[in-house]
Amino acid sequence: MIEQEMDFENRIVSPEYSVNDDDTELSLRPKTLDDYVGQDKAKDNLSIYIKAARQRNESLDHVLLYGPPGLGKTTLSGIIAREMGVNLRVTSGPAIEKQGDLVAILTSLNEGDVLFIDEIHRLSRNVEEILYPAMEDFSLDIILGKGPSARSIRLDVPHFTLVGATTRSGQLTAPLRDRFGVLLRLELYTPEQLGQIVKRSAGILGIPIDDEGALEIASRSRGTPRIANRLLKRVRDIAQIEFDGVINVEVAQSALARFEIDELGLDDFDRKMLTAIINNYSGGPVGLDTLAAAVGEEAITIEDVYEPYLMQIGFLTRTPRGRCVTQQAYDHLGVKNNNSQQSLL
Ligand code: ADP
Repeated sequence: MIEQEMDFENRIVSPEYSVNDDDTELSLRPKTLDDYVGQDKAKDNLSIYIKAARQRNESLDHVLLYGPPGLGKTTLSGIIAREMGVNLRVTSGPAIEKQGDLVAILTSLNEGDVLFIDEIHRLSRNVEEILYPAMEDFSLDIILGKGPSARSIRLDVPHFTLVGATTRSGQLTAPLRDRFGVLLRLELYTPEQLGQIVKRSAGILGIPIDDEGALEIASRSRGTPRIANRLLKRVRDIAQIEFDGVINVEVAQSALARFEIDELGLDDFDRKMLTAIINNYSGGPVGLDTLAAAVGEEAITIEDVYEPYLMQIGFLTRTPRGRCVTQQAYDHLGVKNNNSQQSLL
């Protein structure tokens, strides 16, 4: 069992937005498809659909973006709006509590606008029902009054484009998923792509950095641009105070070692989770809920936030009987794998 409390909110390699991410996050957002690094498949598809819709002078079909947090879903929705030459409205599933909230948003849109709903899988059923006719026929069925005198009226709404974002498309109800014309899956980025993002952000923020320094930060950013930008800013502080301000590979390594982020981007929590599976469950399989209880984190967070990267680097596998740690993870942690109760040296 892991007893030590972890400060998840302030975890430096958390892919989720944190209040500590200042508003530079906004200035770092690419504004055009050309500026948006990587995700070539999604970008190629989108640029065709955008061109076609513009040629026909129509709004773009509804788009569902899915993939782990911090990969650029919100950014992409802004780019879609910009490339279509329309306004962007941003909200999220949990923020739309009542049907009336959604009706107010939809009726205030202009023709062609993009409505971005983050965490769309968290919309309530009630609210979702309003969304179906709005997405399909651009109309709303509203019930006025209660009891025998209640009557239903139909309201038209402007032709808008819904861009929905979710960490997993499987969490969406089938009727909602079916109403999206374009489904795009965002993938974790390669270190080289993240290196480009780090260099681009350093350019915008005026941070001196060389290619190796950028790649070092990129390799430890868990495939996630949000983490890469955050690490860049933290490394800059160390470079400024303890070195001559320029980020090269030595400066990056020294700073990241201080944040206890290893050369693969794993932090204390990853190591604890892997060690828990090794020590308590002989390397697995262990069920997700059992693991969640052992490490004191919600199952859904483990699944959406921590596991994608650990699976991508081949440290963890999902089997029908539960999670298993791979030999590579044993090697990385320096633990002998004899599939018995072996404790860390
Ligand atoms: P999500 O909505 O998937 O959680 P965001 O769109 O908020 O992610 O992206 C987080 C940050 O990462 C943004 O501020 C942006 O600067 C950066 N970012 C994301 N994708 C890219 C990309 N493809 N190229 C450059 N920067 C990116």
